[in-house]
Amino acid sequence: MTSAYDKPIPIPSNEVLTKPFWEATKRGELIIPYCNSCSTLFFYPREVCPNCFSKDLGWKKMSGKGHVYTYTHVRQAVHPSFQSANGHIYAIVQLDEGPKIPSGISGCEPEEVYVDMPVSVVFDDITEDYTLVKFQKC
Ligand SMILES: [Zn+2]
Repeated sequence: MTSAYDKPIPIPSNEVLTKPFWEATKRGELIIPYCNSCSTLFFYPREVCPNCFSKDLGWKKMSGKGHVYTYTHVRQAVHPSFQSANGHIYAIVQLDEGPKIPSGISGCEPEEVYVDMPVSVVFDDITEDYTLVKFQKC
């Protein structure tokens, strides 16, 4: 019998728009959408620039360095595959290049996380095809 805890981990649903991002994370690189018209970096991937509505978009490689902008200690995960005994940290990380990206903080206890904590990107292979971006304390 299948229970809710046997559900597979959710994977992205809009692969056309996000394919370059997932290919980069698989290579161990963090790339962010970039507007060739107004030079705005933004996240999440969209079909038009959120600043000038241009469709002339590309991708820029990020350093992978940033800091915790805000966070919460999630004790009841939204999906069973994300549940752990001590919960996890869901954070908004502001990259050194400016854009903010939602992510998880790994490699430390939830009580150790604080606003402005310096972090660097790590990559978590969750399936053969998908690698999640997470961050760890520097
Ligand atoms: Zn733009």
